[in-house]
Amino acid sequence: MRNVIIIGSGPAGFTAAIYASRANLQPLLFEGDAYAKAPEPQAGGQLMITTEVENYPGFPDGVEGPDLMEKMRAQAKRFGTECLEEVVTKVDFSKRPFRVWVGETLHEAKAIIIATGARARYLGLPSELKFYNRGVSACATCDGFAFKGKEIVVVGGGDSAMEEGNYLTKFATKLTLVHRREEFRASKIMLDRLRQNPKVAWKLNKEVLEIFGDDRVRGVRLKDTKTGAVTDYKTDGVFLAIGHEPNTKVFQGQVALDEKGYVKLEKHTHTSVEGVFASGDVSDSRYRQAVTAAGTGCAAAIDCERWLEEHP
Ligand code: NAP
Repeated sequence: MRNVIIIGSGPAGFTAAIYASRANLQPLLFEGDAYAKAPEPQAGGQLMITTEVENYPGFPDGVEGPDLMEKMRAQAKRFGTECLEEVVTKVDFSKRPFRVWVGETLHEAKAIIIATGARARYLGLPSELKFYNRGVSACATCDGFAFKGKEIVVVGGGDSAMEEGNYLTKFATKLTLVHRREEFRASKIMLDRLRQNPKVAWKLNKEVLEIFGDDRVRGVRLKDTKTGAVTDYKTDGVFLAIGHEPNTKVFQGQVALDEKGYVKLEKHTHTSVEGVFASGDVSDSRYRQAVTAAGTGCAAAIDCERWLEEHP
């Protein structure tokens, strides 16, 4: 019987683990699959597939996402967190002890911290899966190098699209940003950076209807959202940067989720089930930053520790 099981290994999970292990709770943390390929969630979370992180405090020169995660992991282990590189396949939070399965193997705990994060969203086109890894990607860091000397389309109008776009211009000869509106969710600084990049062309008010090609991507079919006109546009690659979805499939019917599928928080980091806490992107569709995930991971561990004192 564990005091606490932490599910997830991004900034929220590891920060919760650092705090829980320093509070002597000897947490068990399920990291997920280290070899998962997008769109499936990956151990270490989204920082494993990001470029340089420039806005995590304490790193004035920036830090590579995977390096930051390795540091957090080492810090959690230093204080005694047991980490398993396993994927939780089923949970039962209907009574205490809470039950967590990895395949046939059952683990039990007095409390749970959910920190499974979110993952990149896809357009939902059949052609997207057909050309996945053959020109279609949602991870510039993973696949950008393969586009050296090629032309690329990036879809999206948020910070991810700007960040991925800028990174990809290191490799691409030309990059076209395709966005369905004229207004951007991206922050001004990130948008301006891409606007000033001479390799970048803009296709605004355009929706991707189809990705086409032969053994590889050769182009996209675009629909003008104002005029309805459909045009084909030649490209060697399509990078999707259209937002995120929470990794909550395994928790459906176990804790309350909101209309977008994120874990609902009742008070602070408490979920609808007493003794089950949530932190990071899995319960945050608003901020979704590494630093806010780490912050709520800390809060969940403190809430969990206090709750366990009252419910040993
Ligand atoms: P986001 O801000 O939600 O933006 C998603 C973009 O994709 C929007 O422009 C949206 O268009 C578009 N989109 C969504 N579904 C679409 C669809 N089916 N077809 C076409 N376009 C679609 O997501 P994000 O850029 O991934 O950013 C998420 C969070 O992470 C934000 O809080 C962001 O600030 C943060 N972030 C920060 C950094 C950084 O600071 N270094 C880097 C990356 C991300 P509409 O606008 O029309 O809805």
